[in-house]
Amino acid sequence: MTNEPLLLTPGPLTTSKATKEAMLRDWGSRDAAFIELTARICRKLESIAGVSEGSHICVPVQGSGTFAVEATIDTLVSKRGKVLVLINGAYGGRIAKICEINGRAYTVLETDENTPTDPNQVAAGLAADPDITHVVAVHCETTSGILNPISEIAAVVAAAGRSLIIDAMSSFGALPLNVDEVPCAAIVASSNKCLEGVPGVGFAIIEKEALAVSKSNATSLSLDLYDQWQALEQTGQWRFTPPTHVLAALDQALIQHEAEGGVEGRGARYQKNCQVLTSGMRELGFKTYLSDTLQAPIIVTFHLPEDKSFDFGQFYDKLQARGFTIYPGKLTKADSFRMGCIGNLTDTDMENAVAAVAAVINELGVVSL
Ligand SMILES: *Cc1c(COP(=O)(O)O)cnc(C)c1O
Repeated sequence: MTNEPLLLTPGPLTTSKATKEAMLRDWGSRDAAFIELTARICRKLESIAGVSEGSHICVPVQGSGTFAVEATIDTLVSKRGKVLVLINGAYGGRIAKICEINGRAYTVLETDENTPTDPNQVAAGLAADPDITHVVAVHCETTSGILNPISEIAAVVAAAGRSLIIDAMSSFGALPLNVDEVPCAAIVASSNKCLEGVPGVGFAIIEKEALAVSKSNATSLSLDLYDQWQALEQTGQWRFTPPTHVLAALDQALIQHEAEGGVEGRGARYQKNCQVLTSGMRELGFKTYLSDTLQAPIIVTFHLPEDKSFDFGQFYDKLQARGFTIYPGKLTKADSFRMGCIGNLTDTDMENAVAAVAAVINELGVVSL
């Protein structure tokens, strides 16, 4: 355990010992205590989303975050619906692919990976195409770490009388997103990002009115959130085998989330992590891909140094040997790598990460960054 590297990645990420230890028990999925655990998790997730008057309900689904995004789109968008997908990175692109494969009509509004979605363009797109029923937006586009103006997007979607689905995978639990202030049909996220659980379950916080009219929309059995919701309502049980250990870990992770001061406390720690990381890396000479005003405190993209002695493979391996796992870049244009600020990490861990980067750069003989 002691030489386990810290994960400076956007998930799976470093979890606490208590969260890992919560998995040391086997649960019967039909057991009353497990039924209670599922309900407790759902109520807490609703509360993190600011659900106050029971307007929305949490429907969990087995699998990674993508499963939950696909399940939500497949459940909420009718076969005659049409989706406007807002894209400025790989996760937005994946949503378009989901629509394609699920046979839902869609159109895209794409901006560069360093350019937030412009709410005015969303409004114009909706005005121009009355067939659009749903807009799907990514809150923090983890490809670059850019923050999209979700409140403004939600306002124009609501004003146009359409429904908004938010992929809040890498922001949920750390950046404020309140259904009373950000009108939406659904917020989708998973266990293993800012909630600091382990991977294996996703969920959507869905507007009850929208869910109630979504019967038979889904083209998939296992990803039908209407059916999943009905089963949970009627029996408190999952339709199919739940990831029991993952849920037990999430239950513990949520206790820690609360103890840290909820969204505000967690967001503040990540913000500090991001500041320490960014300023430390800049001092070494690295350049960030995004300006600070566009940057979410989740994951930071750095340009690869141009120095000939810089080899990303070696950089990655040597950092790993020093106890830090970073994340390769995913940008389509700029050569880059990423370092996450999320997970059970402190500003001291970030200082140590920067020190490790400095040592590795030195070892590789990189002079010009
Ligand atoms: C991580 C992530 C996802 C889902 O990824 P999985 O690998 O399926 O868990 C979707 N959208 C965003 C913005 C993400 O950061």
